Amino acid sequence: MPVADLLHLSGAPRAALRGLVARDRVAIETVESPRRPASLEMALEPLETVTPTEDQARVIEAIQGSLEARVFAPFLLHGVTGSGKTEIYLRAIEAVVASGRRALYLVPEIGLTPLLARRMRSRFGEVLALLHSGLTEGERYDEWRRIRDGKADVVLGARSAVFAPIPGLGLIVVDEEHDASFKQEEHPRYNGRDLAILRGKLAKTVVILGSATPSMETFLQARRGRYRLLSLPGRIGRAGLPPVELVDMRREFEEVGRETVLSRRLLAGLEERLRRSEQSLVLLNRRGFSTFVLCRTCGEQIQCRHCSIPMTLHLRRRRLNCHYCDDTRPVPAACPACGSEHLHFGGTGTERLEDVLKTALPGARVERLDRDTARGRGSVERLLTRVERGEVDILLGTQMIAKGHDFPNVTLVGVVAADALLGLPDFRAGERAFQLLSQVAGRSGRGDRAGEVIVQAYYADHHAIRYACDHDYVGFAARELTYRRAMNYPPYAALAVLLVKGRVFERAREEAEGIARTLRGLAGRRIQVLGPAPAPFERLRGDYRVQILVKAPNRKDLQAIVADTLQALDRIKLNVQNLVIDIDPMSTL
Ligand SMILES: [Zn+2]
Ligand SMILES: [Zn+2]
Repeated sequence: MPVADLLHLSGAPRAALRGLVARDRVAIETVESPRRPASLEMALEPLETVTPTEDQARVIEAIQGSLEARVFAPFLLHGVTGSGKTEIYLRAIEAVVASGRRALYLVPEIGLTPLLARRMRSRFGEVLALLHSGLTEGERYDEWRRIRDGKADVVLGARSAVFAPIPGLGLIVVDEEHDASFKQEEHPRYNGRDLAILRGKLAKTVVILGSATPSMETFLQARRGRYRLLSLPGRIGRAGLPPVELVDMRREFEEVGRETVLSRRLLAGLEERLRRSEQSLVLLNRRGFSTFVLCRTCGEQIQCRHCSIPMTLHLRRRRLNCHYCDDTRPVPAACPACGSEHLHFGGTGTERLEDVLKTALPGARVERLDRDTARGRGSVERLLTRVERGEVDILLGTQMIAKGHDFPNVTLVGVVAADALLGLPDFRAGERAFQLLSQVAGRSGRGDRAGEVIVQAYYADHHAIRYACDHDYVGFAARELTYRRAMNYPPYAALAVLLVKGRVFERAREEAEGIARTLRGLAGRRIQVLGPAPAPFERLRGDYRVQILVKAPNRKDLQAIVADTLQALDRIKLNVQNLVIDIDPMSTL
């Protein structure tokens, strides 16, 4: 049954999951019995020629114990980039399949990690089912039926695969558990990682949450002893974690005497790699050519007609584009406010960076990976395969280049504008910046040759940048958790955002005030109600946005107050057309 149907039938993701697991218990009786001997030892014998490291062997042994016990056992596998987490997942999957049960392997986005899908296919062949957004409705239905009928021992998929009707489930793996794409941001809202834990609890399975940079939520659970923490502190490759050099762009400006995109240090690093026939990655997490257009005469910034967001110039398409609603318009010759022709195209996006690199390094084979170049089926896979074959010297792009890729010949990673990652006023901004920096730094030096990372920033003092440069996750987490506790943010509080949208700002604000009054009337001392206030993105897709934050000591209290408020609003007939409730939001923008 397709996911959408399943959700409609049962109303809510959590309820859907309960139904699914209950049905599994019945289904497992009718599915044909396992074809293989139930010997874990056999499965854990070396497969590929890969001998596990001492650390890996220790982790495998811990997981194997729980697999044999057939109980709910949640693990956090915290392994630095390049420490061989994937091999752990694959061995655990093989062990569970050998014992006659089945495994679910969740990843953030399959399209961005085609090499993993290939590796899985070569290892599991026919008994692997793949669920991802690239499938047509028909293909999805066929895979779903194959899974339900017990013909797939291993299911690899993105977040919605957490609902796959797998009979005899024995193991759930959530790789890159910190990744925001596990959260579905439209109705029905759910977090695939959290549902994986719930499903594991209901179905009594082992659940492995893996990451080099665990989310604060998961790390705190491990620290409190609710998840068992397993660590892979070192890399498999001989080279170890790459040293990170921080280039302060304020000083660079002083010394060079003008604004530059590439520091002298990063440019020299790239030249050195070209001479040695090694590869480089360069991250800039903003696509387009210029990130804003400003009138030098009247100071007006060109914004989207529907959103309070500056328009980005896309030079290749000769259009201005809004990155929120995707509206486009021709590049104006003059300021729409005052008619002046003195327009300034400011800020650097990946398109401009591509030009800068090609000009500075003529002869280098430079390719760009971002949402603009990734359009079209298979384009990401083709490009990544070319990088793998050594046909690309420098791959630049947005966060898409940071996702789990394993290119042994990449020995330099450059980060342009690391501080731009911190720009948004959101309680998770530091965590996100730390994660992205650590992930992209982790692409360097994965083979036997030592790698290096060069990070450019104007605001180089932020703790997220400092700790990422030191590869110090535990230090970062300690600092970040202290801040979260002091500010009463998740994971120390349960948080909900109540967002009122409307074409007319005053009306949205009045409605939000009504809701806030009701909330405050019902809230005891343990509940904190903040706002209403205009959201940081005040207008999106034509709607004004006014929001209220509700913080409660736990999720149960939070759900209770939200439910009571909705009932009360119903009684006083306050008609709220456009109220969006987001529990455990990924951001408050
Ligand atoms: Zn103007
Ligand atoms: Zn827009």
